Amino acid sequence: MRLPPGAASCCALTFDFDAEEVWLGEDPANADRPGVLSQGTYGARVAVPLILETLRRADVRATFFVPGRVVERHPQRVEAIVAAGHELAHHGYRHVSPTRLSADEEADEFGRGLLALQRFQPVIQGYRSPSWDFSPNTLGILAANRIVYSSNLMDDIRPYRHPNQGVIELPVHWTLDDAPHFWFAADVWSKAIAAPETVAQIWEGELEGIRTLGGACILTMHPQITGRPSRLPLLQRFVERVRAHGDIWLATCGAIAAAVD
Ligand SMILES: [Zn+2]
Repeated sequence: MRLPPGAASCCALTFDFDAEEVWLGEDPANADRPGVLSQGTYGARVAVPLILETLRRADVRATFFVPGRVVERHPQRVEAIVAAGHELAHHGYRHVSPTRLSADEEADEFGRGLLALQRFQPVIQGYRSPSWDFSPNTLGILAANRIVYSSNLMDDIRPYRHPNQGVIELPVHWTLDDAPHFWFAADVWSKAIAAPETVAQIWEGELEGIRTLGGACILTMHPQITGRPSRLPLLQRFVERVRAHGDIWLATCGAIAAAVD
């Protein structure tokens, strides 16, 4: 990997802008449940502007993975993300796992998602599946559509190229995700919501470990989760911690993928 001078590792801030689609993709009957969907509406209505403001103040560019249907439902938000200089990347059309789709359905969903995004950013380089999971056809679809990188698998801490297809993988992990720590669902009342300070410790510990090993720290957040008022300072603190190390290259996924040999 070709890191900038002085850098020993790298880090990307990523946001999966799921809005209502994470519930609709799981079960279309949720279209009749405004209370359920309002959790995602918060992401579009309130959280994205707050996150964009936090990123602006920190002067950092992030990567936003957006399903095509969210692009269609919230075009002004996508416009604002691009206008602020952030990267758009593919996150499906509906929020449905590729493992639940036939080969034709998956190719169709991919094409529709890509078209929706390209109205706002002509070149789309990255893909994160709605489930962090691949079907047997996914990598072929990415290669056929000239997608440069995927950010889905948990099998490394360093970017690498998939054999045969040449698609670059920017590995992720549940540790570096906001959902396992903060996600609450009313059907599982036993799930506790973590304190931001606890998550800061987990994220920063993983950041430091990946830095020591010269890897790529790909942090996955969701506007409707990290965009809660108590958690925005967590994002700000994380950026400050990355910068304080002095040798971590903070960049978009697209920029990091472009530096992979
Ligand atoms: Zn998602």
